[in-house]
Amino acid sequence: MGTHGLHLHHILSGHSQPAEPVVTPASSNNVIKTTTTKSTVSSGKYSLSDFKILRTLGTGSFGRVHLVQSVHNRRYYAIKVLKKAQVVKMKQVEHTNDERRMLKLVEHPFLIRMWGTFQDSKNLFMVMDYIEGGELFSLLRKSQRFPNPVAKFYAAEVVMALDYLHSNNIIYRDLKPENILLDKSGHIKITDFGFAKEVPDVTYTLCGTPDYIAPEVVSSKPYNKSVDWWSVGILIYEMLAGYTPFYDRTPLKTYENILQCHVRYPSYIHPDARDLLEHLITKDLTRRYGNLANGTADIYNHPWFAEVVWEKLYSKTIETPYEPPIEPGVGDSSLFDRYPEEQPDYGATGPDPYASLFKDF
Ligand code: AMP
Repeated sequence: MGTHGLHLHHILSGHSQPAEPVVTPASSNNVIKTTTTKSTVSSGKYSLSDFKILRTLGTGSFGRVHLVQSVHNRRYYAIKVLKKAQVVKMKQVEHTNDERRMLKLVEHPFLIRMWGTFQDSKNLFMVMDYIEGGELFSLLRKSQRFPNPVAKFYAAEVVMALDYLHSNNIIYRDLKPENILLDKSGHIKITDFGFAKEVPDVTYTLCGTPDYIAPEVVSSKPYNKSVDWWSVGILIYEMLAGYTPFYDRTPLKTYENILQCHVRYPSYIHPDARDLLEHLITKDLTRRYGNLANGTADIYNHPWFAEVVWEKLYSKTIETPYEPPIEPGVGDSSLFDRYPEEQPDYGATGPDPYASLFKDF
């Protein structure tokens, strides 16, 4: 597996450690596991009655993410809700079980932390820390583009998170600014492991967002973790330029551009950044940094990152370029876009045709 032992160390740097949602013994009333029961019951230690569901923070193809408040300790969390029928229809059963398993395992300052999961007859629920500062995407669109040092700061944190995943044989595969959240002090947290995959060597599945997909994925070749280093290149480019290098009117045209791999570098992009990007956004896997004999050292030691003190970054003792203007700890969600709320069917009971597919939840 390669990921065992991950959850043994507590490598977070001590301060601002969030508290686990407290669950009273009463909630275990919901945990009945017999083969005769009709409604699906959760094997986890949480249930819907432990949380007050508040506004929607974001939506995905299979459900939405809610701000919630624990009725026990009054703290705020985010709960991702996935509709079982939708997950099955979109053939994402394996991805969803993978996401749950990986989120449970990973523990890193720049990766979202998951506390647990539960389900009802229609939905799957994942309880995570609530990351208050909003999406990096929103900040980038507001700023149009980031100054060189700002892009470098976020890129460096992303590099550390991906390197950690790779060293545990996990390819993330869906890097984009929407999946990078900012915590209350302005450090990143990568969320959405729906596409992450645990792989010993190479894999084939096409997934991810058009603009960030590596050419070997577009052309259905086998690929490895260097697809994530390609995406880091696209991310750095987008942060510096304000747009992605292969953007076009349709996904098909974007794919064509990716396969051609002709990148125009605006003159304001720093020469060091350009050099790094030329070694990340390259079709030639024998030239792509992160994939060569030196591994990630080619990235960590690149001149563009010369002033980054990696240990300090990891321990979050470096000042962040932007502190989100929110009041921490009170469920402030002003930095998230509004989404139309729908009447939820959370807590649904009754027959569950998919019960056997999501046994881990
Ligand atoms: P996802 O389906 O995981 O990509 O999540 C969709 C959106 O919900 C993200 O782009 C964020 O805006 C928001 N979101 C997801 N997880 C969290 C979290 N832990 N805290 C705050 N917002 C989140």
